[in-house]
Amino acid sequence: MGRPIIYWACFIALAAQAQTFQLPTANHALFEKEGEDRFFVGTSGKPWVTGTFGCVRSSGWQVHEGLDIRCLQRDRHGEPTDPVLATADGTVSYISTRPSLSNYGNYLVLCHQVEGVEIYSLYAHLREIRQDLKIGQAVKAGETVAVMGRTANTHEAISKERAHVHFELNLLVNDRFTGWHKKTFPDQRNDHGEWNGQNLLGIDPRPILVAQHEAGAKFTLLSYLQGQTELCRVLVRKTYFPWLKRYAALIRPNPRAEKEGVAGYEIALNFNGVAFELIPRAASELKGKAKFQLLSVNEAEYHKNPARRLVAKRGAVWELSSHGLNLLEMLTY
Ligand SMILES: [Zn+2]
Repeated sequence: MGRPIIYWACFIALAAQAQTFQLPTANHALFEKEGEDRFFVGTSGKPWVTGTFGCVRSSGWQVHEGLDIRCLQRDRHGEPTDPVLATADGTVSYISTRPSLSNYGNYLVLCHQVEGVEIYSLYAHLREIRQDLKIGQAVKAGETVAVMGRTANTHEAISKERAHVHFELNLLVNDRFTGWHKKTFPDQRNDHGEWNGQNLLGIDPRPILVAQHEAGAKFTLLSYLQGQTELCRVLVRKTYFPWLKRYAALIRPNPRAEKEGVAGYEIALNFNGVAFELIPRAASELKGKAKFQLLSVNEAEYHKNPARRLVAKRGAVWELSSHGLNLLEMLTY
């Protein structure tokens, strides 16, 4: 009787670990050889790469923070009808059904807890969102949460031909975003509170989905985050901000700061502004008095992925740009 129980236990353990993130529609061409054309939708007249994540638009100077996934099913009017599926087990964080208020159109945000990291999936341009979904409600990976559509408030509408779901995986910058936004941009509207796209920093879902598909349980999200390419390293003279709590798994211990007391944090940012490594620093380790200090820049990465313009070169000296300072203000508010 012993052996079947052991086999069964192993099976459950494997099933529980594997495939944290799934594709959010039935389109699985991403996993097929040369399937990109059937998976990604490019911008009008542009190749599929413009539907991927990163500095892929306006000759590299505009970031696309998600994947534009092509539709597979249409109704008799040619409108997309693909079910949109939760990418992982999670809870509902935000539902926006006022398409005129966002270039996301109707959109939905789910929250997932993976390896101690809070990650938010976002599904945009939806035709409809499941009526019974409520904020805080639990959903299962693969569960239908919405129907693909073409909603957006952009000047140029999404054509039927380009029908897609815009899918993001994000880290949440600051739960005090609403207050920060009001103070920083008093004349600008913020219709979505902390679920404003500015407060969500995207990471590329493609390698996550592909690595999980290929490596299964061996893939870890934490290693993926820790392995981001560094654009720059900054020092902030702040000892508490929400990111430290939400992404505590990304903090690297520093015995000296633990012993002497923390006076600030050294932070590694990727090209999109994701703080993927944070090191507490003691006062004795800090130089200068500036609130934010640029410590180093990875020039090769800047030239590869410049669109966020977080740093700029003045003469021979790199400095934090207004965009970079703005991001750090938002992060540490
Ligand atoms: Zn998109």
